[in-house]
Amino acid sequence: MAAKEVDLFVIGAGSGGVRAARLAAQRGARVAVAEMAALGGTCVNLGCIPKKLYSYAAQYAEAFEEAHGFGWTVPTPAFDWERLKANRAREIERLNGVYESTLLTNGVTLLHGRAQLASAHEVDVCGERWRARHILVATGGHPLMLEVPGGELAVSSNAMFDLPRFPRRLVVVGAGYIACEMASIFRGLGAQVTQVVRGTQLLRGFDDDVARFLAVEMGKKGVQLRFATRLQRIARDGDALHVTLHDGQSLGADTVLVATGRGPNTQGLGLQDVGVQLGDAGEIRVDEHYRSSVPSIHAVGDVTHRVQLTPVALAEAIALVDHLFGAATRRMDYEFIPTAVFTHPGVATVGWTEAQARQRLGAVRIYRGDFKPLKHTLSGVDERTLVKLVVDAASDRVVGLHMVGADAAEIVQGFSVAMKAGATKAMFDATIGIHPTSAEEFVTLREAVVA
Ligand code: FAD
Ligand code: NDP
Repeated sequence: MAAKEVDLFVIGAGSGGVRAARLAAQRGARVAVAEMAALGGTCVNLGCIPKKLYSYAAQYAEAFEEAHGFGWTVPTPAFDWERLKANRAREIERLNGVYESTLLTNGVTLLHGRAQLASAHEVDVCGERWRARHILVATGGHPLMLEVPGGELAVSSNAMFDLPRFPRRLVVVGAGYIACEMASIFRGLGAQVTQVVRGTQLLRGFDDDVARFLAVEMGKKGVQLRFATRLQRIARDGDALHVTLHDGQSLGADTVLVATGRGPNTQGLGLQDVGVQLGDAGEIRVDEHYRSSVPSIHAVGDVTHRVQLTPVALAEAIALVDHLFGAATRRMDYEFIPTAVFTHPGVATVGWTEAQARQRLGAVRIYRGDFKPLKHTLSGVDERTLVKLVVDAASDRVVGLHMVGADAAEIVQGFSVAMKAGATKAMFDATIGIHPTSAEEFVTLREAVVA
């Protein structure tokens, strides 16, 4: 039987794949997409969306606690894990449907099944062969687990949203985005949480002040942080788990979450058989137009193992489709990508850390404020907020903006436009604040703490 023909065959209907398929179809290309799991990929099913919903759930615990200081008497709140899981599942199913109808209404052919490359222009899926002028691999990534005795008793973030029983005692291994977010969320929901960190601080790669400040704030919320130690082994202990750390400490746990990074999904795709070169982490290596070493095969998103964020996968997909089927004018700019960690309190940042700025620029001015937000004057909660600006001493340009505190992600998203536009400290100073807010602190920082 002759192969079916398309202009673009997309493997993976996650953030990058769906965006590329829809845009290419809207530009008149014949497009097919293969997806072996649920539509929407990691972000919709096992990442950003369920994570943020559970973060909201955890915030209610804080709100109940804070309400008393504002005159409310709240009966002892009770949390129903089953109800949260069911409501999340219903919302995710709705989103899966939205993704499906987006593809179908734009004329994209949707295939449910695992796809594999047969040649530089051919893909096999569901027993059918498809021929394509271009192939896009947007297969995302998977959690990397630790090889320790009993490591199979641990779970990855994939399992956390649907744990059969709420973990009264949770051990989290890792100090990156996922570990910190899950530690915060499950602590907020009422678990006793111990976070095991191999280094001496959280969120390596973030500004040092941010990392230190977050550790203090998470500690105040009750997350037990164990620095400079590692998971040695996990053993069953009746219904529970027994965790041993390298420094000899032992911990009881209902669930052990390993969140030590994610690797690209490049296994079993036949990539190397058709000549696609992979990097050290198994990622697809691409040029500035997302083209692999085989010119007809492209890759965007987590499978390229660079910036693993949904808006980056989307922007890469947009640039790729513009290159293949459009005016070829759109480029992805990797400078000043804002990012947030949805811990409690939250972290958000755009631009360079103080250390990066010193290394790149030499002379920098640092502005920093650390304060108790107005809300917590009555809430009785001992939470503080950090704001920090890193300024190029030579040009006065603000090159780094960092925050730890409530609504950090919402606030920093706005400031990132100014940062992209090259705003100087003088422009921040000339901006009138909105009072009373935490965000206004960014435009009222007058004295450099390091000049
Ligand atoms: P994915 O969205 O993972 O899509 C890949 C798809 O390919 C999957 O659906 C997979 O089933 C499919 N697939 C794989 N192999 C095949 C095959 N052979 N055949 C057919 N289909 C295949 N990012 C943010 O920006 N903000 C956040 O708050 C955030 N939170 C996160 C929380 C967690 C717990 C995790 C794990 C990630 C989070 N991320 C967040 C990262 C974000 O989810 C990813 O960067 C993003 O989903 C990457 O998109 P992608 O298109 O590259 O891959
Ligand atoms: P990260 O890369 O963020 O963090 C990995 C963590 O695991 C680091 O703390 C690292 O420590 C630690 N680690 C690595 N190997 C070991 C080991 N052998 N033993 C002990 N600890 C180890 O990965 P995540 O899994 O947290 O998340 C993957 C990616 O997903 C993120 O980088 C991010 O791009 C994306 N994501 C984004 C979110 C958001 O936008 N809010 C939320 C969740 C995920 P060390 O620092 O010492 O190397």
